[in-house]
Amino acid sequence: MELVTRHGALRLPAFFPDATRAGVRTADAADLRAVGVQGVVVNTFHLLRAPGTGLIKQGGGVHRFMDWSGPVISDSGGFQVYSLIRQNPGSGVIRPNEVIFREKSTGERWSLSPERSVQAQFQLGSDVVMCLDDCTSVEDSEAEQALSVERTVRWARRCRQEFDKLLAERSGRRGAPAGQPLLFAVVQGGASERLRRECAAALAAIGFDGYGFGGWPLDGEGNLITDLLALVAESAPAGLPLHALGIGRPDNVVSAAALGYTIFDCSLPTRDARRRRLYRFLPGRDPATRRGPRPYPPGEPFYDVLYALDQDNANDFGPIDPTCDCPLCARYSRAYLRHLFRVEDGTAERLATLHNLRFYVRLLAALQGDGDVDAG
Ligand SMILES: [Zn+2]
Repeated sequence: MELVTRHGALRLPAFFPDATRAGVRTADAADLRAVGVQGVVVNTFHLLRAPGTGLIKQGGGVHRFMDWSGPVISDSGGFQVYSLIRQNPGSGVIRPNEVIFREKSTGERWSLSPERSVQAQFQLGSDVVMCLDDCTSVEDSEAEQALSVERTVRWARRCRQEFDKLLAERSGRRGAPAGQPLLFAVVQGGASERLRRECAAALAAIGFDGYGFGGWPLDGEGNLITDLLALVAESAPAGLPLHALGIGRPDNVVSAAALGYTIFDCSLPTRDARRRRLYRFLPGRDPATRRGPRPYPPGEPFYDVLYALDQDNANDFGPIDPTCDCPLCARYSRAYLRHLFRVEDGTAERLATLHNLRFYVRLLAALQGDGDVDAG
């Protein structure tokens, strides 16, 4: 399956690393290309705060800003409504038509509305624009979930109108970018099957280019809520991209892909790399040995995590993963990586980041049914 964007066709399923502030920490665009990353997710909320989406537009858009020529998805800022305001009510307030954020350091207030979110994503020049949603936790009450669904649908309708208005204004204008961005909507509803169904149906009636599973995707024990993910996948219109926002751990990506999700994004692999945690395929489970329609059956272990600082690595001159072709595994030993981490050389974080991203690229290529892929 492919998704055609203004910046090329994506092979699905695809994993998008989080370039939250228009950068994947420690790795630049050339690094990302070298390990075969197809696209990145940037965050509208953070880029509005710094350096400002207007400034990025002035510099030619986010692709030029970060020298990234592939597809860019922009997160609407909806997740920050949850992670900042719902979890710390002092940091802002959710109103019927906008969200007011209060900066902790300066006390300054600023607002994000459905229209403002879409406008900012147009300023970035992103390929996939996300509707602003009101994200909840599965533990929130049914009444809270119902309110969040009502807002999410109302905001999605306004995002659709703003998106169509901006496209109409832009068409025919000299110097307008070729092609059109896509607009995705996010399904909320917490743990309520009824609300999830209602939300998916209401969004489908408005009509979008793709749909996402919103809300916190893990239960109290950190396990993927597969029954809810399955329900949203079944409720969304068939044949369109399905984005599992914030998913996730390699085994969770495999489980969600089996349910029909085709786009994933998560800060986990790059954050883990900086925490010296490196993913590697178990012997006999690397993508080169896994072909066929279901190379990684959900629930079957296929990888583990190597902690770079372990004493065992001190005099191990072999690679992190002998089946991996990333810059770290192709050129350096475990002993060298451990040494670089111990002396706090930033190169260690970069190499570990590239390795973990390459792990995801190889895993997703196997899920695409292509077997192992060469680095770019
Ligand atoms: Zn590697």
